[in-house]
Amino acid sequence: MPGARIDRIGIGTDSHRLEVGSPLRLGGIDIPFDRRSAGHSDGDVVLHAVIDAICGAAGLPDIGEQFPDTDPKFKGYDSRDLLRQVVERITGLGYTVANVDVVVQAERPRLSPFKAPMRECIAGLLGISANAIGIKAKTNEGLDAIGRGEAVACIAVVGLRKT
Ligand code: MG
Repeated sequence: MPGARIDRIGIGTDSHRLEVGSPLRLGGIDIPFDRRSAGHSDGDVVLHAVIDAICGAAGLPDIGEQFPDTDPKFKGYDSRDLLRQVVERITGLGYTVANVDVVVQAERPRLSPFKAPMRECIAGLLGISANAIGIKAKTNEGLDAIGRGEAVACIAVVGLRKT
């Protein structure tokens, strides 16, 4: 089937502590909540996991190596811009993102109303159709730091196509 080919696969994960503040940035979307993701950048675990999955698939260094959190330049940085830069890099290597599949882990807030906006946002950043983006939201059934509402995490898988 034309367009169905995948040449490379990558995986990425990320987790951040939650701290008092607002909003909670996930998948490029600002979610109204009384906690926000603590981080050097905007702490967007979804985009960070997606970026690492893309980098892994393309054979590029990981997000921490490309955008070090010791670099003041990335303080408070918008992760949507990091993703745009990574997309530019893989485009230069002759790759396009074929699909993205994401599992977001957060005990609170309830993420189901935000899955569609996250999908649209990620699709827009990647320049691909929203139906090539999968977003699943899971709680952690009260277990560990995620379950206690102290952290959020994400796992992402990305398929790349050589153009
Ligand atoms: Mg991160």
